[in-house]
Amino acid sequence: MNYRHIYHAGNRCDVVKHLALTLVLAYLCVKEAGFCVLDTHAGCGRYDLEDARAAKTAEAREGILSLLKASAMQGQEPQRSEELKDYLDVLQRLNPGWNPADPEATGFRLYPGSPCLTASLLRPQDRLVACELHEEDAAELKRNMRGFPQAQIHARDGYQALRAFLPPPEKRGMVLIDPPYEDAEELEKLPGILAEAWKRWPQGIYMLWYPVKERPAIWRFHEALRGHGLASSFDEAGKSQGESKLLCAEFVYHEEIRSDRLNGSGLIVLNPPWQLADSLRKLFPLLHKALGTDHAGGSVSFL
Ligand code: SAM
Repeated sequence: MNYRHIYHAGNRCDVVKHLALTLVLAYLCVKEAGFCVLDTHAGCGRYDLEDARAAKTAEAREGILSLLKASAMQGQEPQRSEELKDYLDVLQRLNPGWNPADPEATGFRLYPGSPCLTASLLRPQDRLVACELHEEDAAELKRNMRGFPQAQIHARDGYQALRAFLPPPEKRGMVLIDPPYEDAEELEKLPGILAEAWKRWPQGIYMLWYPVKERPAIWRFHEALRGHGLASSFDEAGKSQGESKLLCAEFVYHEEIRSDRLNGSGLIVLNPPWQLADSLRKLFPLLHKALGTDHAGGSVSFL
């Protein structure tokens, strides 16, 4: 396992994925009943952008730091957007010395990964289970999550955790699957993994991140998801209810899709909250503008 998320923390793909995560969490918070979030590939919880490894790639510059710059401009869209509110609130709580009106984002240093972002948005009745396999990152995750009593941290394989922890007793909630794609066959394995998890917990919301790198591989991935019956809903008698429940959102910032670089952020959401597609459709153009991407591509559609 060579992948370390600190090199990529706060990049464009993180921003898109984390914003989508906050939208699903906001939906889950509408009902009073508690929910559970299972984060299968959790990383370190939060990241210091001044760490030498983050500074080496400086990926946050094109990601979160660009967004903060745009949002500091008085009256600009990011500042006013409902879709960004929870995310910006967590960033502020984590960086009390940062003034959101400062276009240089001086004092902004800590970037929340999915566990810290999730735990910051939970209510007392909710729970987070976060798994990380890399020994050092798991130890750091444990340290970084000490202030969150509702977070249970496990240094273990996230795919095994799907078998161990689903369905959760809360009955409501979501699963975030955000692997590093070090294994060349990861994308091929995921539809089967997702289908098995969904059978254990059909009511859960599942969000899966994938890199936009090679179109043919992505087409095969989508086809396999459909092949597993995940793209259409059925009633108990096996009759199709006609409405697809598999949302696919791609935020693409390079016009030419090349396999030697990340060209965009892909998200699959199984059982998406009903308003998620519309929120992402509003969010993507705003994000392209704020991040200053050369190419404002992407789509939000049901598979
Ligand atoms: N979800 C995190 C976030 O949004 O802040 C980032 C996760 S990063 C893309 C992927 C993480 O998965 C890495 O920290 C890696 O060490 C870990 N990992 C790799 N294989 C794993 C496995 N089988 N089970 C759990 N964690 C794994």
